[in-house]
Amino acid sequence: MLSKKTIYLAQPRGFCAGVERAILIVEEALKKYGAPIYVRHEIIHNAYVVKDFESRGVVFINQLDKVPKGAILIFSAHGVSKAVRYEADERQFQVFDATCPLVAKVHAEVVSLKERGFQIIMIGHRGHPEVEGTMGQVDSSIHLIEHVPDVDQLTFDKDELLAYVTQTTLSVDETQEITAALIKKYPQIHAPKRQDICYATQNRQDAVKAMIPHVDIVIVVGSQNSSNSKRLQELASSLQVPAFLVDDPSQIKSEWFKSVKNIGVTAGASAPESLTSEIIDAINSRYRGSVVPMPGIEETISFSLPKGLLKAA
Ligand code: SF4
Repeated sequence: MLSKKTIYLAQPRGFCAGVERAILIVEEALKKYGAPIYVRHEIIHNAYVVKDFESRGVVFINQLDKVPKGAILIFSAHGVSKAVRYEADERQFQVFDATCPLVAKVHAEVVSLKERGFQIIMIGHRGHPEVEGTMGQVDSSIHLIEHVPDVDQLTFDKDELLAYVTQTTLSVDETQEITAALIKKYPQIHAPKRQDICYATQNRQDAVKAMIPHVDIVIVVGSQNSSNSKRLQELASSLQVPAFLVDDPSQIKSEWFKSVKNIGVTAGASAPESLTSEIIDAINSRYRGSVVPMPGIEETISFSLPKGLLKAA
């Protein structure tokens, strides 16, 4: 018989306030206007959620010329550049903006810094839609760096008016290393009043750190293109615990659990709790384990819907 396992469940895990709001915006738009509803980019980075919406008539597009004139268009939680907003206006779509308010805060910061004459360094991952949206708030004066060695490549003058902002879903520890290198090279650099990495990213990474001493392996529920889920996997691996990112129970492999007694389970901010439950059930059906919820922060943050959908909701 297979040996019993104990599953430690991270707290907090799964949906954050920005993801809940984005999903609710699509739900309410579907209710109010009916299909088709167009969404620019995946509303959130989760394959299960996207597939479910597609089956109900939501069309995910990357180019606005795929959207018929006058259609309902939703911007994803990752935010969009100014150019995308102008194009949507020109094409006369009815737009609902699901940009997470914490991403929108970074957008406002970038615009204000540019107006005040700063050169802005953005710390983030090239090609991620949030980074494209944030950098696209201004038409110049913003420069992307991804890793500590990139700081060496910067050629600003020692007295340049400089500031930095970050993507909201980065590794807290790696970002601290990058900002430390920036401050060392440019002591005058202006930092955000409060860090841009969001509460949900920070809390989920802290919860993984708290779980690590108890477990031999970590399963992260989330999609491969989910930045914050990837960071949870990398964090566990960097703490010498094997970690696997899974989208659904079919991706779980028996060989991961050989000589493993204690299993940690967490979920990225875009992964529904129903998937986490399915994954726990799949592990339990094989090993008849017990589930131990870890103590941790109870999040109470929520964001309101855009005005046009508030009434409908
Ligand atoms: Fe907003 Fe953070 Fe959630 Fe991203 S992870 S949607 S920034 S709350």
